Amino acid sequence: MAGIYIHIPFCKQKCHYCNFFSQASTKHKQAFILALLTEIELQKDYLNGEEIKTIYLGGGTPSLLSDKEIKLIFKKISNFFEISTAVEITLEANPDDLNKEYLSKLKGTKVNRLSIGIQSFHDDDLQYLNRAHRGQQALNSIQEARLVFENLSIDLIYGIPTLNHKKWIENLNTVYQLNIPHVSAYALTVEPKTALAFFIKKGKYATVKDQSVIDHFHILCDVMESYDYEHYEISNFSKKKYHSLHNTSYWSGSKYLGLGPSAHSFNGVSRQWNIANISQYIESLQHQNIPFTREILSKQQKYNEYVMTSLRTIRGTDANYILQEFGNDLYDHFLKEVAVFLNDKKINRAVSTFTLTREGKLFADRITASLF
Ligand code: SF4
Repeated sequence: MAGIYIHIPFCKQKCHYCNFFSQASTKHKQAFILALLTEIELQKDYLNGEEIKTIYLGGGTPSLLSDKEIKLIFKKISNFFEISTAVEITLEANPDDLNKEYLSKLKGTKVNRLSIGIQSFHDDDLQYLNRAHRGQQALNSIQEARLVFENLSIDLIYGIPTLNHKKWIENLNTVYQLNIPHVSAYALTVEPKTALAFFIKKGKYATVKDQSVIDHFHILCDVMESYDYEHYEISNFSKKKYHSLHNTSYWSGSKYLGLGPSAHSFNGVSRQWNIANISQYIESLQHQNIPFTREILSKQQKYNEYVMTSLRTIRGTDANYILQEFGNDLYDHFLKEVAVFLNDKKINRAVSTFTLTREGKLFADRITASLF
C-alpha cells in the first residue's frame, strides 16, 4: 500500500507552539498550486506504479484551499497515479474554516475524511496556544462536519498550563458525547525558536510542567479506555475500523510520496525531503526541477526506522523480523538493550513481539533512542 502526502504551507496566523513549516499568509497560494501540479507530474514514477491507498492533505492549513483547488490537485494525481477505489483521502482543517457552505463544497471533492485541529474546547487554552478559533467554534465545526463526513478525527493538546485536570476530562467527555471516531492527542512541547519558547523565556507565559503532562496522559488513557477507544499508537485512539490508514502506513514502512515544500518521501531504499522554502520551491518547479535532498538508507538506518515506527504502535516490534531483515548483530543488540526496559516494566514481551507499556509510552523517544 502506497500513500501520497501533500503539504499545504499556509496558515491564517502562526500558533505559538508550532514548528511545522508554514507561512501566515496565502500570498503565494496560486503560484504554489501551479508548482504543486508540476511536481505531481514530475514525480509520476516515484512509487513505481504502486496503487495509492491513502492521500493526506496536511500542513499548514489545507482548509484554506478552495474546493476548485482541491479538485484540480486530485485530477492531476489521478492522471498520473493508480488510485485504489477504497482510497482514504484526509484533509486537515481548522474549525474557523468549517462552515456549512465550505463543508458541502468539500463533499463534492474526493475528500472522505476530515482531521480537525480542535486542540481544546476552552477559550483560555486556545488563547495560550494562539489558535485562530474559540471553543464554541470548535463545537460548532464538529457538529456541522458530522452532518457531512462520518469519518472524522480531531486533534487535542494536553499539558497546556491553563488546562487543569477537570477541563481536560471535560474535553475528553466532549469527544465521547460528540461520538468522534478518531482522536489524536499530543503533549504540548516547547520547541526551540517558537513564539512559545520565547514568551516562556521572557516570563510572559507560564511554563509547561512535566508532571501535568504525565497526569494528563494517564487521564487520557483512563478516559478513552472507559469509552472503548483503542489506543493503537502512542498519540492515537480510535473506535473500531477508524484507524488512520495513512498514518498506519507510515508506521508500517509503506512507501509514500511527499509533495510540496518540506514534504518527505520514502520508497523503501531512500528518503528525500523537499526544500522548506515556498519561493524557492515555486521558482525551482517553474524550471521543472524538484528542489530536494536525498539520503540512501543504510542497514542501521533501516533498523532504526523499523524500531522507531513499530514500537509506537499496538502491533509492536517483532524480534524475528529484526533477525530476518537485519541479521544476527542487530538482533542480539536489540535483545540486549531491550532487557533493561522489560525489567523496568516499560516494555512488555509476548513471544517475539515487544510493545510499550503505558509507563513506557511516556518515555517512548528515550527508550527508542537506546535501542538504536
Ligand atoms: S494551524 Fe497548524 S500548521 Fe498552522 S500555525 Fe497552527 S499548528 Fe502550525
